[in-house]
Amino acid sequence: MHDTLVINCGSSSLKFALIRLSSQETLLSGLAEKLFEAEPVLTVKSAAGKQVVKLSEQGHAEAMRGILGVLQEQDLLSQVSSVGHRVVHGGEFFKSATRIDAAVVQAIRDCIPLAPLHNPANLLGIEEAMKAFPDLPHVAIFDTAFHQTMPEQAYRYALPDNLYQEHGVRRYGFHGTSHQYVTQQAAKLLGKPLEDTCLVSAHLGNGCSITAVKGGQSVDTSMGMTPLEGLVMGTRSGDLDPNIHLFLSQTLGWTLEQVTNVLNKKSGLLGISGLSNDCRELEEAKNQGHAGATLALEVFCYRLAKYVAAMAVPLGRVDALIFTGGIGENSRFVREKTLSHLGILGFHLDPEKNAGMVGGQSGPITREGGPVALVVGTNEERMIALQTREVLS
Ligand code: AMP
Repeated sequence: MHDTLVINCGSSSLKFALIRLSSQETLLSGLAEKLFEAEPVLTVKSAAGKQVVKLSEQGHAEAMRGILGVLQEQDLLSQVSSVGHRVVHGGEFFKSATRIDAAVVQAIRDCIPLAPLHNPANLLGIEEAMKAFPDLPHVAIFDTAFHQTMPEQAYRYALPDNLYQEHGVRRYGFHGTSHQYVTQQAAKLLGKPLEDTCLVSAHLGNGCSITAVKGGQSVDTSMGMTPLEGLVMGTRSGDLDPNIHLFLSQTLGWTLEQVTNVLNKKSGLLGISGLSNDCRELEEAKNQGHAGATLALEVFCYRLAKYVAAMAVPLGRVDALIFTGGIGENSRFVREKTLSHLGILGFHLDPEKNAGMVGGQSGPITREGGPVALVVGTNEERMIALQTREVLS
């Protein structure tokens, strides 16, 4: 068997999955978390059920030992033939998934200034997995790589040229693995070759981004140099006037770090509602008349609709709008509200189809005759495994 171990390493957690591509199965998935707290723990889901393992030491090395132990216990260790690593930022170095060697590790390290929180953790995961599986090929899959096909007019900011040339200040985009996966799935659902499709992909989870995908290639996206730009998200503001930084500093005496913290961690759905970053909770609160929750959802959907319309520009036509991510796959309300703003593009919601599309199902939610809105379940682990296999073959 040729199974791929997919690793997604954060600063205090390590997510993993074992994917068997031949049967399209996730054999096992899990999360090692609280890696630097008193009781680090490993949770594993597989056909054998849910298993919780207490880790005896802190840190990523112990988490990796725990994962090895579980693979061994379930007789899966010898089946692992490759390891695919999610890496957040590949800058302009990486335009596709790449087999990891010393030069690749160095290039990921060189991208640390662009993703100071994520890339060091991703490197740690690579280091530990290479120690655990020294004889297997390791492949890096970058969140940014899919967007490297964007034309310069889409990725440049209107800033002094040297900020781009010398410091790489440009739009990179994220969630590339998810956008690529769902657009490929959407082409299949539409019964069209991917090369002939013009698709808008809205990944709506805790982080949210939207991408225009023409013929299978990203031509514009809402996230920028960092994942803060664009749509309203769970706790991130998305787009705002950059002068707000100065205003907050002058009126409230906030430091740059304080402003950045508020924009990333206290804004978005949480900020407007004053209640929660969780879409489900907000929908319940809205149904009970909570004004903040209602407004947060309205701002979320309106901003999203504006971006859908904007993404029609580079596409020229829209064959389908894809909803994915926890919110996109499950929130009938968000889909309905967003489409209600998009009559201009010819979308007509089919309420019955919309109501039935929850919990990982994929399919259309619009009436025939106009552009299609589709719900497509994302599967980043599967895409990472697919790309790992592609690179190695
Ligand atoms: P993700 O980051 O893709 O796991 O998505 C997380 C988001 O999906 C959270 O805001 C959840 O509230 C939202 N979500 C998950 N299930 C539902 C649901 N049934 N209805 C509305 N939102 C949901």
